[in-house]
Amino acid sequence: MFCPECGSILRPKDKGGKKVLFCSCGYSKAPAGEANTAIKETVPPKKKIEVIENIEMNPKMRTRCEKCGHDVAYFWTQQTRGADEPETRFFKCEKCSYTWREYA
Ligand SMILES: [Zn+2]
Ligand SMILES: [Zn+2]
Repeated sequence: MFCPECGSILRPKDKGGKKVLFCSCGYSKAPAGEANTAIKETVPPKKKIEVIENIEMNPKMRTRCEKCGHDVAYFWTQQTRGADEPETRFFKCEKCSYTWREYA
């Protein structure tokens, strides 16, 4: 699950017994019924959280930030769905922290 605001990975949290998805930008979402079940089956999120938190450790490359025009961004790849799906490449602007993704 990705944040519709900034493209970061949403982090699941328990809030008063309910599963709520949070993003580092402040966006939050409480998935209802079926959607919640589907998320549990397809995406175990624990491993991905660590990657996000270590973003500053990731390599940088020359790519243009759509938001501020800066041309260096951190990048990393993640397997987002099944193992047979292509990896998704993520970028985070070095300057303004804008995050976006690109399908390989
Ligand atoms: Zn966000
Ligand atoms: Zn930027």
